[in-house]
Amino acid sequence: MTKRAIRVARMFDGERLVDGGVLVLLDGGRIVDVQRGRAEAPEGWPVREEPNGTVLPGLVDAHVHLCADAGPDALGRLAERPETDLDAVVEASLRAHLAAGVTTVRDLGDRRGAVLRWRAREVRDLPTVVASGAPVTTVGGHCWSMGGEVSGVDGIREAVRLKAAAGADLVKVMASGGVFTPGTDTTRPQFTDQELTAALTQSHDLGLPVTVHAHALNAVEQALRVGVDGIEHCTCVTATGAHVPDEVADRLAASGVAVCATLGTDPAVVTPPEVVAMAARAGLSAATLRDGAATLHRAGVRLVAGSDAGLGPAKPHGILPETLVEYVACGIPATAALAAATSVGAEVCGLGRRKGRVRPGFEADLLVVDGDPTSDISALRRPLAVYRAGNPVR
Ligand SMILES: [Zn+2]
Repeated sequence: MTKRAIRVARMFDGERLVDGGVLVLLDGGRIVDVQRGRAEAPEGWPVREEPNGTVLPGLVDAHVHLCADAGPDALGRLAERPETDLDAVVEASLRAHLAAGVTTVRDLGDRRGAVLRWRAREVRDLPTVVASGAPVTTVGGHCWSMGGEVSGVDGIREAVRLKAAAGADLVKVMASGGVFTPGTDTTRPQFTDQELTAALTQSHDLGLPVTVHAHALNAVEQALRVGVDGIEHCTCVTATGAHVPDEVADRLAASGVAVCATLGTDPAVVTPPEVVAMAARAGLSAATLRDGAATLHRAGVRLVAGSDAGLGPAKPHGILPETLVEYVACGIPATAALAAATSVGAEVCGLGRRKGRVRPGFEADLLVVDGDPTSDISALRRPLAVYRAGNPVR
């Protein structure tokens, strides 16, 4: 029996709220019907009743690191970790995402293609994984411990070809330094325009989009000049700190580039002072991150939701609900935050025709939460049920 029905008070369909009762019918891993009002399920369809529930598409976390176990210095320790350990870490990470209602993740940095190799095993009943493999970075550059160091235009082209051959869905380039790699600089680009252009044209020739990690304002400017498909963090750091200029936000909006602001931390975890200090040295604080996201939203930038899950104790896997709580706290309407984590996220992951909406024909990846997340985003902290390909997750 794969036929199932879910009756809830309301639905967020990936774009907007539908109130007044909703019945969703699932069969064969797909949504086969969505009925409004007090519709009855056809005979023989078991119905799950959630009278105060809201059904929404399974969430899309557009920025995770499945190989990172969310312990202290999780990225730094990747270099020493035996590669044979990584499959178990990847699976534990995915289970944590699924429990929180995240049914699709985009992995933007593994260790030497470990997530791509794990995915080839086709383990079922875990979230769908879109993955880049190890990020392209400079020698000794940001996240070099993931194994993606390259040098020069030829080295970049070769690295992109190898990623495509290994089955990557997109290419991630570290376009500036980052917080957690000592010796890198969050105020400067890592590559020349010519090198970043080579990464982009080689990727596009192979049908792969490119998203870049960019903290530095001049790396964001470079990304716009070169014409990348996505920008991660986008904090616009200069020597005086992080600030997204309105004029840059307007250009980001006009370009249509997808921006992932990577907010979201576990409110129960106190960030250790050395991590706060590390971020401060990089020009970043919780307040500047929120201000930046608010500016991007106001300008009409195409925002997706990604948590950077796995980085450390405050960023465990499955933290995406907190990313959305923070989006709303910085002034983004709840419906826009939810769209970023559903329909828009699915489109940016190349899955917009089959995921990210509660609509007949779409895959039955669903989340039911207690209450109405469009009026109280913290309802996302109260999942009642998660469905992956039409099957309830235990
Ligand atoms: Zn990251």
